[in-house]
Amino acid sequence: MKIRNCLNPSQPCFSFEFFPPKTDAGVASLLRTVEELAPLNPGFVSVTYGAGGSTRDRTVELVTHIKQHTGIEAMAHLTCVGHTRDELRDVLRRLAAARIENVLVLRGDPPQGQQTFEPVPGGFRYAEELVRFVREEDFNFCLGGACYPEGHVETASREDDLKHLKAKVDAGMDFVVTQLFFDNAFYFDFVERARRAGINVPIVPGIMPITNYEQVQRFTRMCGATVPMRLALQMERVKDQPDAVVQLGVAHATVQCMELLARGVPGIHFYTLNKSPATRMIVSALRARS
Ligand code: FAD
Repeated sequence: MKIRNCLNPSQPCFSFEFFPPKTDAGVASLLRTVEELAPLNPGFVSVTYGAGGSTRDRTVELVTHIKQHTGIEAMAHLTCVGHTRDELRDVLRRLAAARIENVLVLRGDPPQGQQTFEPVPGGFRYAEELVRFVREEDFNFCLGGACYPEGHVETASREDDLKHLKAKVDAGMDFVVTQLFFDNAFYFDFVERARRAGINVPIVPGIMPITNYEQVQRFTRMCGATVPMRLALQMERVKDQPDAVVQLGVAHATVQCMELLARGVPGIHFYTLNKSPATRMIVSALRARS
């Protein structure tokens, strides 16, 4: 199934993102998480692409396994980091051979220790170039990409970022998924600006339930997402009580999702961090209300 066909405001789909674990025990635990989330009937799940090393093969193996053994549509992420175009073609061929129909095409972050992104010789500098490549090579994938309601961390301005997003979409993207955000106002404003700029593909909000105080601080530092003052103060107050942090995170994400659904989003993508309980609680609460 092509994901673009399940992104529909009249019947929004929920999707779950996982990352490829480093160890076999981690893989076994992830597959249990997938099983626990399967009864929620996700429209699709996705598996991220690592910065390098063995987990990259695991992305291909995991999406193949999930699609074949659970019947859930599985999307592979793919980045330009460290890859020549021949290597990228090879990964895409492996995905196509495994009957994977959807790929989230990304540039990736600069490798650790590098301030700016430098492509390897024969590689690509921007996600847009990889999208163009996939289309020129005549793969029949449905392609997704990343977008940034608060602006990408490297961009000089949100206007520039939007211009680049438009070029990336025009190169052949079918839908985009946002970076995580904790304040829906950023999403609604972004969608309005994107539509005005002529970006007409579905824009799927990415939601990360907060389950760990230190982790959320690390993530927001890395990706530039704003934590609303009120939420930050509430978190600060309960930071030493792990259960209370989860409850607060789940409550906040549930309220976010309720508003997003009420205002007609085509789907909601959950950054699960390979754990099921928080996402299960949120989706169950949303389903109970619909
Ligand atoms: P691009 O779209 O190429 O943009 C990167 C930067 O370059 C932006 O600042 C943009 O404004 C600028 N730019 C783009 N085109 C041009 C141009 N023509 N001229 C000048 N500037 C330009 N990372 C991983 O490593 N693995 C993953 O699996 C992964 N999954 C992700 C999933 C989602 C939903 C999101 C939101 C992010 C994900 N990331 C992942 C992180 C992502 O790789 C980083 O945010 C990365 O820094 C940018 O990737 P991109 O595809 O958005 O890049």
